[in-house]
Amino acid sequence: MMYQVEHFINGHLVKKSTERKSAIYNPAIGEIIGEVNLADQSLLEQAVSAAKQAFVTWSITPLTKRVRILFRYRELLEANTEQLAKLVTQEHGKTLTDAYASIQRGIDVVNFACGMNEHLLGNYALNVAAGIDNYSLRQPLGVCVGITPFNFPAMIPLWMFPLAIVCGNTFILKPSEKNPSCAILLAELAHEAGVPPGVLNVIHGDVEVVNGLLHHPDISAVSFVGSTPVAKYVYQTAISQGKRAQTFGGAKNHCIVLPDVDLNSTADTIVGAAFGSAGERCMALSVAVIVDENNFADQLIKKMSEKIQQLKIGPGDEKNIDMGPLISAAHREKIITLINSGLNEGAKLIVDGRNFKLNDTTKGFYLGGSLFDYVDISMKIWQEEIFGPVLCVMRAPDFATALNWVNSHFYGNGSAIFTNNPAIARTFSLQVATGMVGVNVPIPVPIAAHSFGGWKQSRFGDLHLFGQEGVQFYTQLKTIMQRWSEVNLASSFNLPAH
Ligand code: NAD
Repeated sequence: MMYQVEHFINGHLVKKSTERKSAIYNPAIGEIIGEVNLADQSLLEQAVSAAKQAFVTWSITPLTKRVRILFRYRELLEANTEQLAKLVTQEHGKTLTDAYASIQRGIDVVNFACGMNEHLLGNYALNVAAGIDNYSLRQPLGVCVGITPFNFPAMIPLWMFPLAIVCGNTFILKPSEKNPSCAILLAELAHEAGVPPGVLNVIHGDVEVVNGLLHHPDISAVSFVGSTPVAKYVYQTAISQGKRAQTFGGAKNHCIVLPDVDLNSTADTIVGAAFGSAGERCMALSVAVIVDENNFADQLIKKMSEKIQQLKIGPGDEKNIDMGPLISAAHREKIITLINSGLNEGAKLIVDGRNFKLNDTTKGFYLGGSLFDYVDISMKIWQEEIFGPVLCVMRAPDFATALNWVNSHFYGNGSAIFTNNPAIARTFSLQVATGMVGVNVPIPVPIAAHSFGGWKQSRFGDLHLFGQEGVQFYTQLKTIMQRWSEVNLASSFNLPAH
């Protein structure tokens, strides 16, 4: 049965039919299963006004009380993980086990937010001048906005709003219109946990709504995750409107493989990191740069191609599936076009996933895994983010060349090295131009107390997501000098020097 996804404003679902709607697909069957109303300007105003109003009391609600609500929220998220994971799989397509893991990585940030009493302690300097004390504190910004992509419909929102609201801000979440249901469940659970009306709102929409939010004078800060062209646009527009912004874009994550590693386990690790979630992860390993000595590349490619051909592809809610479908037919076509361009430009397609059909039907947005050998830096399949189940192999004569290629890429999200040589691993960690680095770790997404973010065209704005940088992003510094002594308040015409 078709369902309708509504907005969540001021503690309620808001059923307002608008002319602009967007279809929701189940990618595993390739059929429309629901519909989401896209907000118009009046609905956007309703959400901003609810959030602005709620900020007045929420920002001065004792931190201990906000934290207590977050603790309850964490419990509710744990209790509803299954329902959230099922929604992720239904509207995104990834496997249920992967969906579960993504919810857990979201809850990890809620755990971190529950420790906010410690992170917002501030600091104090006593008697910096006669009778004067100086202290610093961090205060919330106001109404914050989160704009999120399709590939993690629960995790990425959870990387943003729990931290924003525990710091005393109010929040408007604009999730991807392709899979909007999780965001509503997240907001309903927050409300059930005791988050007051207006503190967390969800409105659905596309570019029109994003523009409305970016230009709204009552929005103080914008967090965005999505593709690089949009990340860049959102960042530039937000800061031109005087807002604080952190925006995270696309990626091309390389791993360098040295010939001193164990063949079988390294092939396993790379294939898992390249094809998990059908490659629709900003931290997916999409390029393996193999330092080729004594036919090592041939051996590793052979192992990886065997494993890719054995991938179990199917609906994400079936057992023992490695890889589900892609998000849409259009995205599948885009990936096939890129694979074709790789062939035209001279790369060697070792495993060809273009004609994969599940049970001989064309139903569902499936694509098999593909593996390219002899990719070089002149090719589109190296230069562009594919965001699908395609692994590119480059053969490097030595480590220095491999590192050069990695560092010459436009993106700088994540990278990894596989080796047993600590000196090379250390050089790699220090010299690679990416924000997140794995040493024998294929997908180095930091834990919640550290912060997440890439370099170069994978991030715009100074502060990374969650962790300490997340706290900084959602708060602003105030320093206060105070005198409560009986010192004579005589006039002075000099700059005070203590
Ligand atoms: P997208 O850029 O198409 O959409 C992201 C969000 O922006 C959505 O909410 C969408 O409604 C909105 N949007 C789309 N076009 C817009 C426009 N022209 N103007 C304003 N808003 C617009 O991204 P996507 O397809 O949903 O997600 C995939 C992309 O996200 C990939 O490039 C992936 O690498 C990236 N991503 C990056 C990270 C990271 O942390 N760096 C994490 C996850 C995904």
